[in-house]
Amino acid sequence: YSVAAPAWDLHGYIIAPFLIRHGTEEQKASWLPHMVSGEHIAAIGLTEPGGGSDLKNLNTSAQLEDDGYIINGAKTFITNGHIANRILLATKTDRSLGAKGISMFWVNLNADGVSRGRNLKKIGNKAQDTAELFFDNVKVPAECRLGAENDGWRILMDGLVRERLVVAIRSMVIAEAAIDKTITYTKERKTFDQTVFDFQNTKFKLAEMVANVEALRPFVDRCIELQLTEDVTPELAAKVKLTTTEVADRVLDECLQLHGGYGYIWDLSIARN
Ligand SMILES: Cc1cc2nc3c(=O)[nH]c(=O)nc-3n(C[C@H](O)[C@H](O)[C@H](O)COP(=O)(O)OP(=O)(O)OC[C@H]3O[C@@H](n4cnc5c(N)ncnc54)[C@H](O)[C@@H]3O)c2cc1C
Repeated sequence: YSVAAPAWDLHGYIIAPFLIRHGTEEQKASWLPHMVSGEHIAAIGLTEPGGGSDLKNLNTSAQLEDDGYIINGAKTFITNGHIANRILLATKTDRSLGAKGISMFWVNLNADGVSRGRNLKKIGNKAQDTAELFFDNVKVPAECRLGAENDGWRILMDGLVRERLVVAIRSMVIAEAAIDKTITYTKERKTFDQTVFDFQNTKFKLAEMVANVEALRPFVDRCIELQLTEDVTPELAAKVKLTTTEVADRVLDECLQLHGGYGYIWDLSIARN
């Protein structure tokens, strides 16, 4: 299916950095080794049935009681939702404060009160499970709060750059790999007594794709370099995500066409991209 299950990029490149950057020394020592060993598989719970883009209006609540919090609410579209045993969960600890009333928790998905809905059927990424999750009076110890109370929005925005970069790098690599596969295929496939690669139209199309991808690669590499010193702004990350996903989209479509009817058949990896 062209993707691994579980979604390791989410687990390792998006969720783990939240814990590394915002966890206390005790939290990191307690949580990270389990993530590295794979004993804990992580998910992130932001989106709710009522909406995802308008994150500051999320409804899942966390209420402080005695030595912990009581969580109530529902999340949807959660990648790793069925196989994860931990979730980084966005909740409201103060409804009157809007975005400033959000707090993050590291929640055990095997705790009492957590239930999992159906595995949602998707157009792509079929090997990965995407699920609804429900929280009914789930008790979470106070030491499982990541960052200060009501500091969740700042924590989430801090992760935006990494999330955008992960998508950009993946899109770049998918486009590069698709071109490689298409060159190999068209050199092997014969029609009208010559290879598909030998048609001038094929060479024009491949040359254009290679030019677009090679022109973008230095931009992606520069962003990776800047990220090493944390100098990628959310705006720059948005630019690299936008340009790489659009090029990848066009390249994949062209590459699929150059495979003829086989491009539509699941057996070939170009169809599964
Ligand atoms: C495969 C998959 C995996 C996912 N994994 C996760 C996960 O692991 N964790 C998680 O929390 N979420 C996950 N999501 C959810 C994803 O983050 C949301 O789908 C996304 O945030 C959009 O929210 P929504 O679907 O509620 O769309 P809506 O917010 O309802 O948006 C609907 C449409 O309105 C547009 N729109 C919204 N606001 C505006 C605006 N202000 N101006 C103009 N247009 C606007 C949107 O662009 C969209 O086209 C996943 C989704 C998918 C499909």
